[in-house]
Amino acid sequence: MATRTVQADAAVLGHTGRPMPVFADPGPLEVHGPARIVAVCNQKGGVGKTTTTINLGAALAEQGRRVLLVDFDPQGALSVGLGIRPHDIDATVYNLLMERGTTAHDVLTKTQVHGMDLMPSNIDLSGAEVQLVHEVGREYVLGSALEPVVADYDVIMIDCQPSLGLLTINALACAQGVVIPLECEYFAMRGVALLMETIDKVSRRLNPKLEIDGLLATMYDSRTLHTREVLANIVNGFGDKVFHTVINRTVRFPDATVAGEPITRFDSGSMGASSYRELAKEVLERWRQAGDGHEG
Ligand code: ADP
Ligand code: MG
Repeated sequence: MATRTVQADAAVLGHTGRPMPVFADPGPLEVHGPARIVAVCNQKGGVGKTTTTINLGAALAEQGRRVLLVDFDPQGALSVGLGIRPHDIDATVYNLLMERGTTAHDVLTKTQVHGMDLMPSNIDLSGAEVQLVHEVGREYVLGSALEPVVADYDVIMIDCQPSLGLLTINALACAQGVVIPLECEYFAMRGVALLMETIDKVSRRLNPKLEIDGLLATMYDSRTLHTREVLANIVNGFGDKVFHTVINRTVRFPDATVAGEPITRFDSGSMGASSYRELAKEVLERWRQAGDGHEG
């Protein structure tokens, strides 16, 4: 049997065409909180926002981070993907936003992943977009509602809906970071300029703390020329903002969604699971470099 030696070589190029760094194991945290709030955002649907929220969240929880996921899409795919039946729940993010008597603690629910909680949503949330328009400080409603639990978590990730409407603006207005998944398909970049412009406006007018944590290439297939070209194009446009970690296209992701579990549990040894574990390390390293309080 042939043996192969794999060497950690700084000159090894990753899928993004840049030398692939080795991300250190971040090690346990001694003190938890306050959370970094991260919006997972792209107004295009089907690019991997929900999949990234679930699996990056689960991988960060494996690293001992206390994680809260907020389902901020009326489709409720994040809730379903974590095994929640959206019509069986009585307190959702909608109640949190619209009802004075509902607190963040009322809406929290545990997931099967140790250290990861969820604020679920269902179709009720679609009403919030219309109702919020008439609120005073309408861009800050989510941020104020989350305030009581920020101290309890290390990371709060908001799974945004595929639009740049008022719900998404609320997520951007309370976040420190944005993660932007991009599907490695033609037209991946369509709409990205508008997204960048929106992030820029929010950071100038509403939330100066906001920064882009990174762009994440998803549904990559190294066997096809066009996905390689699309990825090269993304790196060309956004340089170091593009995560070194790339998520391959594999049917294990939809399978895991149907099972209502993160891939890190559904198929723990799979390539998909290890990619999101790698992304968790890369993200923690970026946050550390960004001088994020407790990742120092
Ligand atoms: P979004 O939240 O941006 O609409 P999703 O995360 O729901 O996107 O992904 C859209 C669909 O693609 C889902 O069925 C999901 O299971 C599937 N999917 C997501 N990531 C991958 C991937 N890396 N490989 C294959 N299928 C994927
Ligand atoms: Mg989604």
